[in-house]
Amino acid sequence: MSFKKRTVVAAVAGILFLGCVSRRVVPSPGHSADWGVEVTWHGHSCFSFRDANGRVVVIDPFDETVGYRPLKLYADAVLITHNHFDHNNIQAVFPFGRSSLKIVDSTGTVRSAGFDFQALQADHDDQGGEINGRTLLMVWRMGGLKIAHLGDLGQKQLTAEQREALQGVDLLFIPVGGVVTLDAPGAAEIVREIAPRAVFPMHYGRPEVRFYPLDPVDPFLALFPPDQVHRLSGATVRISRKDLTDKTVIYVPGSFVSTNVPNQ
Ligand SMILES: [Zn+2]
Repeated sequence: MSFKKRTVVAAVAGILFLGCVSRRVVPSPGHSADWGVEVTWHGHSCFSFRDANGRVVVIDPFDETVGYRPLKLYADAVLITHNHFDHNNIQAVFPFGRSSLKIVDSTGTVRSAGFDFQALQADHDDQGGEINGRTLLMVWRMGGLKIAHLGDLGQKQLTAEQREALQGVDLLFIPVGGVVTLDAPGAAEIVREIAPRAVFPMHYGRPEVRFYPLDPVDPFLALFPPDQVHRLSGATVRISRKDLTDKTVIYVPGSFVSTNVPNQ
């Protein structure tokens, strides 16, 4: 092969390789709010959110100590609720192509990747944070929905400021596994208080989890009528406003995936 040909082949191979690792899968066109948001569970408290424009937000990537498979995720913005190893592994998250990865990890409202993220201080235990420290509650709008991820919330009572920020939440992500966060009854109480349209329990025990003997998800699910519990077959679900009803539906992913790039 001539030098020129070899250079062209190498260049094409390089482009194909780059395309593989940073491929952005853009959903079918449509009004962003009608398309909603695609939620993918990666295990523990880590989720990806993708909107109709292909923008991706990742929250709380963990390291392999937790017991789930190591993560390899792509995002426009990554949210870190607190600096514990089961929530802050930003080394597992990569930007798309040449764009830079935005990190949101402190209180206040930050505009990043086209979203306004509101982060509020909260306690990681029910003793004013004296045992486990603090966590952030993350609130943002995406795909026409108001989303809140409560990090490692341990407080049994919300403050007036937290309650106000969580008013009108459509999708709520809440820890239910106890030991270091809210347990099933505590989480159910907060769910009833906020009355979101959809709830994703998180931070609970599964056979893979080896760092704490967290309670499984079932005691939390048992606190809701069976017709409000929706067990998914896989790790991903797309939810738009038209899917929501007045009843709070609890979504339980049937599996988790360690990447958010389809077909890998
Ligand atoms: Zn945690």
